[in-house]
Amino acid sequence: MSKLEYTPVEEIAKIHADLNRGFRSGKTKSIDYRRDQLLRLAYLLKDNKKRFQEALFADLGRPAGESNLLEIDSTIGQVKDAYDGVKKWSATERVAFSATWFPMNPSIRKEPKGVVLIIAPFNYPVLLLLGPMASAMAAGCAVVVKPSELTPATSALMAELVSTHLDQDLYRLVNGAIPETTKLLELPWNHILYTGNGRVGKIVSRAAAEHLTPVTLELGGKSAVVVDANCDLPTAARRILWGKVANAGQICLAPDYILVPRSFQDTFVAALQRTFYEFFPVDPLKAPEGTMAHIVSDAHVQRLGRLLDETHGTIAFGGQVDAARKFIVPTVVKDVKTDDALMSEEIFGPILPVVPVEGVEEAIDIINSREHPLAVYVFTKDAKFKAKVFDNTQSGAAIANEVVIHLAVDHLPFGGIGPSGSGYTTGKFGFDTFTHLRATIDNPSWVDKLLMSARYPPYDRGAIEK
Ligand code: NAD
Repeated sequence: MSKLEYTPVEEIAKIHADLNRGFRSGKTKSIDYRRDQLLRLAYLLKDNKKRFQEALFADLGRPAGESNLLEIDSTIGQVKDAYDGVKKWSATERVAFSATWFPMNPSIRKEPKGVVLIIAPFNYPVLLLLGPMASAMAAGCAVVVKPSELTPATSALMAELVSTHLDQDLYRLVNGAIPETTKLLELPWNHILYTGNGRVGKIVSRAAAEHLTPVTLELGGKSAVVVDANCDLPTAARRILWGKVANAGQICLAPDYILVPRSFQDTFVAALQRTFYEFFPVDPLKAPEGTMAHIVSDAHVQRLGRLLDETHGTIAFGGQVDAARKFIVPTVVKDVKTDDALMSEEIFGPILPVVPVEGVEEAIDIINSREHPLAVYVFTKDAKFKAKVFDNTQSGAAIANEVVIHLAVDHLPFGGIGPSGSGYTTGKFGFDTFTHLRATIDNPSWVDKLLMSARYPPYDRGAIEK
């Protein structure tokens, strides 16, 4: 397995200068060039699938099947999307017909913003690094990617493969932690895309403001799930619990907490418990490693352990923490109040608080009293119930009878609102993030005779008095 080496801080400015030179060479203007590099990126993933599975297992204890489905294949899908879409997306666009302006041939040139920086978090270290990178490559940008230091095996592998598979004049990887990222953030980029927590999102925004650099922020938050008693209960339980055990709940879109009618709480929790036994016929604490992902670091295990110690709710099942293995058994806590420790921050782990409410109005009030999350989920068979929740709340996405997978649905934008982020990634929306819409006209001389002669002085000075 490759060993993680941080990029020397003193080399970072040179990498930035090299990429500026590479970008100015004009290589990325060619769509064939972009497609060739995107193809290399796809093969970087496809040919090294096993190595990625091993690295993700080393960093996160992930089952290989889960890494394939939610990370490696999804990233290949995003690269393929960019490869297939780039020609159409980057074509100059004529604007809608206007009788006044059409002779000037008004159109929009789709131009790369320039040299861009992409900073990724630990939880989906391949998808959230190479997915946006594919969008930026399709847009014709030069790109520096900065993986998380919390996933050393995956970040080391990516450093090796990016340097051997992609054109180093245009695409580079910088590894490191806070000093390296701080150095990167001192430089003038043409766009920064940051995925991670809001605290660092503010650091990134402040640094970008120094150079008036546009920023896309893909952040997190507490994504709420409103469960109606009139729902398909086994499906709801299966999908919700899956959203908490996949990657051990370390998913920005994971269902963070449940709002359920008080009279339905025990029925719902019992369904979750039945699902837990279906998912884990062997006690997950005794099952071999690779049955379920573990928590990324000791610090996060301690944070989650503290939340469990401090909760005033009742642990319905789970609750065991194996600190040595960084493993936490999927845990459901019921009778949680809105001021509980479990409601104080994004959980980002396999712990699910259930908050009983009197009705849908109270559920809506609770969601609206908090920061806008990345998703609001509803489980119901009642279209009016769904509409009521969606129409009276705000969030990055509004999802009924499903969790998490909307990120993978073709042609949907992915992004937060307010504290859960700003801007969009994936597909054409990702391409647009890294693209400047350069307005252009070309006005023939004869237009002056027909339309535009009145703009030239001398003007009719008596016109106002008339
Ligand atoms: P992390 O700790 O891996 O940090 C993210 C990146 O920020 C890393 O590359 C890290 O090196 C850098 N960083 C950390 N501290 C820094 C500092 N002081 N200055 C400059 N750079 C710094 O991951 P994280 O932030 O804990 O990731 C989890 C968060 O990300 C959760 O809130 C989750 O919801 C969110 N997230 C959002 C999305 C999305 O698409 N919206 C996806 C995944 C995760």
